[in-house]
Amino acid sequence: MEKRRFGGGILKLSAAVPDPGRIPRGSVASYLPKSEMRDQRLMTRQDIPLGKILGISIGLDYSWFVIFILITWTLAVGYYPVTYPGWGSMQYWFIGGITAVLFFSCILLHEIGHSIVALGYKIPVRSITLFVFGGVAQIEADPPSAVAEFFVAIAGPVTSLVLGLIFYGMGTLFPGSGPLSGLFKYLSYINLVLAVFNLIPGYPLDGGRVFRAIVWSITRNFRKSTLIAAHVGQFFGFSLIFIGVWKVFHGDFGGGLWISFIGWFLSNAASSQIQQVNFQGWLGEHKVSQAMTRQCASVPEDESLKDLVEEQIMSKGERCFLVSRESVPVGLVTLHQIKEVSQSDWGTISAGQVMIPIEMLKRVQSGDSLWSALKKMDRDGVNQLPVMDDGRVIGVLSREDVITFLGTLQELSVP
Ligand SMILES: [Zn+2]
Repeated sequence: MEKRRFGGGILKLSAAVPDPGRIPRGSVASYLPKSEMRDQRLMTRQDIPLGKILGISIGLDYSWFVIFILITWTLAVGYYPVTYPGWGSMQYWFIGGITAVLFFSCILLHEIGHSIVALGYKIPVRSITLFVFGGVAQIEADPPSAVAEFFVAIAGPVTSLVLGLIFYGMGTLFPGSGPLSGLFKYLSYINLVLAVFNLIPGYPLDGGRVFRAIVWSITRNFRKSTLIAAHVGQFFGFSLIFIGVWKVFHGDFGGGLWISFIGWFLSNAASSQIQQVNFQGWLGEHKVSQAMTRQCASVPEDESLKDLVEEQIMSKGERCFLVSRESVPVGLVTLHQIKEVSQSDWGTISAGQVMIPIEMLKRVQSGDSLWSALKKMDRDGVNQLPVMDDGRVIGVLSREDVITFLGTLQELSVP
């Protein structure tokens, strides 16, 4: 779930949806929440934009409707009628729907809590998306320090805790068992569960980030702290799977399955974090010169795009071109620049007219680490960078080159 890519990367903080339709009648301890899980792909797209708050775009993923309907339904036919008999049947559905909307507003506020603190540390926040497992804030860039990491992570659960207390207070204004009383009690409860569940100290939950920040401040080693927190996350993930399976065998099929699913998702996310830290280690140890493509096709600046496409791209599969003037490279053309020009103009427009002039190119040096090169690509939103030493272009590094290089390392089992 939670991929936090340091360096031009994205930090995602999310709120759990703790099994919202299944309020326990007994102790809180008997109740295991759904988690704050999300799939990396799900998280990055926003299907339905809802607008902006503090410059952060807020959106709904289509998967959100599934959980919205599920929650409304469980509340309207399960929780509310059982706990508060005697309301009208339309009332159950109406309050169920209102509860679900407010519940997701609370998750949104949880994410906004993370975001405000991040913005306070001058860490840009790109978006907040609500989806089937809760919410996620995409926070860009590195946490500048363990202290920043700690406060950004804890801000979400603190927001939920405060919301829980506010709803608790509002509930006391409506004693009895009417709809408003039921609504506030539920919202107070669910927010407290959100706060507590997200504080489980396994990465990638908020509590895992808090834990990592503490370990980071002690060890002064970010990678090591991430590995430790992710291993604790794996432990909690496996524990949830175990508890879920145990519940299935003790008759709670639906609930057990759901808990196992969360556990699986958590342990998966923790594993991918561990893998990522390892990748980061490898990429930090290897140089651009080891992965870059040395031959970059060279074309004269007056070559038309039509010739370029036909002779270089279609027949040789080249994707990136150094544009030269009297055999001195003066710019770079990639598929991206060619696509900007409408096809009917390819015959009359030359490579020199669409190229990015060499002095404007973002570049890396052959001795830079692959990790810093990837960070640069992320930051500039490009997929390749020219490699320049002493003002001369000596090759091009693309994301594909990096992936191919990693594949080779793995195949040869070279660390
Ligand atoms: Zn959170």
